[in-house]
Amino acid sequence: MSKPTLKPVPKSERPSPEAAMDAVRTLIAWAGDDPDREGLRDTPKRVINAYREWFRGYDVDPAEELSRTFEDVSGYDDMVILREIDVESHCEHHIAPFLGRAYVAYLPTEKVVGISKLVKVVEAFAKRLQTQETMTAQIADAIEDALKPRGVAVMVDAVHQCMSTRGVHHPDVSTITTQFTGEFKTNPALQDRFLRVIGK
Ligand SMILES: [Zn+2]
Repeated sequence: MSKPTLKPVPKSERPSPEAAMDAVRTLIAWAGDDPDREGLRDTPKRVINAYREWFRGYDVDPAEELSRTFEDVSGYDDMVILREIDVESHCEHHIAPFLGRAYVAYLPTEKVVGISKLVKVVEAFAKRLQTQETMTAQIADAIEDALKPRGVAVMVDAVHQCMSTRGVHHPDVSTITTQFTGEFKTNPALQDRFLRVIGK
């Protein structure tokens, strides 16, 4: 599988806030409502502010988040596992939210990273237009590249609103994606331990 590449568009090349608000007005009219009626008048501004928050991951460099590592771990060489990291993302096919949890583990060599940094890496990729598969691979790759660990395991379990509120209308289907590298890939016992610890 080829590595997913994703280069955010530089800020200087992005449309102006006015152009983005015009686009929202167009979508409102296209849906069948009047963008100038009172209740909708400030909606374009609110939508672009919400977009800033939902898509703030484009302005975070995951490699930078992982660049500060610690080497003094007193010989700790077992898995580091983070469970139940909230994932709030948007599918790139419908710009509909998908919500769930990420589980991340790695087997350190000599470098470890602050635990909050791993959460930030998940967020950096989640707060973009995504597919769950790509996001899962990107999280694993970023940790792999930065820490050169003996292995990385990532699982994402999420419900896609483009499936629950439209299309097939299946509210209860959750999608699980996993990505294993290094020893997690070659050693099924390690995979099992990871899945057991995270309760999957
Ligand atoms: Zn979708």
